[in-house]
Amino acid sequence: ARTPVTVTVTGAAGQIGYALLFRIASGQLLGADTPVRLRLLEIPQAVKAAEGTAMELDDCAFPLLDGIDIFDDATQAFAGANVALLVGARPRTKGMERGDLLEANGGIFKPQGEAINAGAADDIKVLVVGNPANTNALIAQQHAPDVPAERFTAMTRLDHNRALAQLSKKAGVSVSEITKLTIWGNHSATQYPDVFHAEIASKNAAETVNDQAWLENDFIPTVAKRGAAIIEARGASSAASAASAAVDHVHTWVNGTAEGDWTSMAVVSDGSYGVPEGLISSFPVTTKDGRWEIVQGLEINDFSRARIDASVGELAEERDAVRKLGLI
Ligand code: NDP
Repeated sequence: ARTPVTVTVTGAAGQIGYALLFRIASGQLLGADTPVRLRLLEIPQAVKAAEGTAMELDDCAFPLLDGIDIFDDATQAFAGANVALLVGARPRTKGMERGDLLEANGGIFKPQGEAINAGAADDIKVLVVGNPANTNALIAQQHAPDVPAERFTAMTRLDHNRALAQLSKKAGVSVSEITKLTIWGNHSATQYPDVFHAEIASKNAAETVNDQAWLENDFIPTVAKRGAAIIEARGASSAASAASAAVDHVHTWVNGTAEGDWTSMAVVSDGSYGVPEGLISSFPVTTKDGRWEIVQGLEINDFSRARIDASVGELAEERDAVRKLGLI
């Protein structure tokens, strides 16, 4: 058997953690021939609940699960980590200003970045799920100066998958026939799901659908507001689909995108498509051998340009706000 891969999960006792850990332990994150060792991080009050989840993980008798350790200390939790899923975050509560939210999360993601810098494995790959995910990823990345910046990513794969689902319904095709869809910008209501380069059965998706009103008034807002719609319907947030997207994100990063297709990941900008260097923004990316690359040379029409700029503008504001707070 192969040597176990160490996966650290924060917020392990939360809703997403509960949906995520069983998928990881069953082999869906890294593949059916890779044993995993889980290191769970929780705040002290939630350690007991995480222990309960660990009991259930034991009871699944997953052949690939090599061990589980639970911590309330970040330095210990990230020691030797090959993959880190940063799920735990401070939720926005009533009356909380954006600055308060960013500050509370800075208090979480700064020490986690430092702990990753201090003790994670050389091949560490980080996915931030906890919101505001892009800016939380930026804070962690800025506090891990010895880790290559490209190892810090934030999740827009759920938005990508939501867009695939909406487009497949509209076009009456299977999601597997859709390629080259892109989420640009921030994982927030300003995100831009772009179908102008997408293909349905190898034909341009925007031309195939040929319905600009649907695109503007239905598709884009439905994808962007899907989280709120699920809370409204279920009375609880979209934890299982978020966990599924986190599994997809890491699986694609490690195993590569299919030939002729790409995925969406929020990654450190190199200035591509006018996105200021250093921001962690969602792009179309291909992956191979555990590395990602931003797809180059796409033509961006005026409709897309305005939406990308708006979402990237929001990311720049968030970065400026955390700078002002001294968090980066
Ligand atoms: P969830 O597990 O439901 O969500 C965790 C984070 O994921 C939130 O920031 C949430 O953002 C975000 N998220 C991203 N995409 C989605 C999506 N599609 N649907 C829902 N959430 C999404 O939260 P819980 O409150 O159940 O659990 C959080 C856990 O984290 C708690 O157990 C808490 O103790 C722990 N925690 C751990 C920390 C640590 O390990 N150091 C630090 C802070 C918390 P949003 O708020 O926008 O819904």
